[in-house]
Amino acid sequence: NADLALYRTKDIGRNGFHFHTSEMNEIVIRKSKLASSLRTGLENGEFVILYQPQIDLKTEKIIGVEALVRWNHPKLGTISPAEFIPLAEETGSIIPIGEYVLRKACQQSKAWQDAGLPPFRVAINISARQFTQTNLAETVKSALEESGLSPQYLELELTESIIQGSKSSIATMQELKKMGIHLSIDDFGTGYSSLSYLKLFPIDSLKIDQYFTRNIQVDSKDAALVDTIIRMGHNLNLNVIAEGVETAEQLDFLKSRLCDQAQGYYFNKPLPAEEISKIYCQKKSEYALS
Ligand code: C2E
Ligand code: MG
Ligand code: MG
Ligand code: MG
Repeated sequence: NADLALYRTKDIGRNGFHFHTSEMNEIVIRKSKLASSLRTGLENGEFVILYQPQIDLKTEKIIGVEALVRWNHPKLGTISPAEFIPLAEETGSIIPIGEYVLRKACQQSKAWQDAGLPPFRVAINISARQFTQTNLAETVKSALEESGLSPQYLELELTESIIQGSKSSIATMQELKKMGIHLSIDDFGTGYSSLSYLKLFPIDSLKIDQYFTRNIQVDSKDAALVDTIIRMGHNLNLNVIAEGVETAEQLDFLKSRLCDQAQGYYFNKPLPAEEISKIYCQKKSEYALS
């Protein structure tokens, strides 16, 4: 039965053991199509930014939002950053795309404030290449000036791969810190860097990777790691935020361990900018910062 044979081949492919040649070709073709249309996609305004609320666990109010980019491809539909950000990194398009996200998110944040929403931070993901191959501090300064957003409302999420870097990454971080910008480590605990960077770098927060959060209820070792990250963060005077919170049980655990903030589908999915304004109007008493 040909259908069954095809099904089996696909199944094996998905499990990562072996790809059917035609399926492999499809993946390669899609990758090269996407890679070559990143820049025109940016020029044509195909990238949109969604914003996911970050909740303070003591007050249950929104203290920030994370900007998460999506690509609305005219032919291929919505493409996840998990797919196109690595391609943009490879091809270098991450530099103009990253700058676009930064400028746009700063403008949006200022627009919310101008519309009367209580001020909260906007967090932006910074890729390694953006950090090492551009003058990030200069770009950030210009994005703030252009938008009129105050630096205290901007957060940059860095990954451990950036940290691995050199003296020049410390210098860039110090420069950003001096400007009054909040710095956090994204996907904390999933990289390969040594912990000693926590002592060297001027960081404000740790973001616990969603992989750990997801397993709090199912794997006692993940629960122990989450607990340990929170304590370590607090001992180093860092703010700790958990990503990927989906259930009340995960939230209860995090609260009981005095985690500072959380973000995840339990509260909100990443939302268009207008929806963020709506949340504030609907739930003013619940969410508004006092
Ligand atoms: P990240 O920065 O670790 O962002 C968290 C991801 O988890 C987001 O995926 C978010 O939509 C998703 N998420 C949030 N809450 C939950 C939850 O409760 N459950 C689950 N299962 N997932 C949740 P997204 O938006 O697909 O982004 C994936 C990654 O792409 C981001 O991971 C980030 O590394 C990268 N990325 C997104 N936007 C940008 C950007 O503007 N610049 C750069 N350099 N990278 C970006
Ligand atoms: Mg992030
Ligand atoms: Mg993350
Ligand atoms: Mg991640």
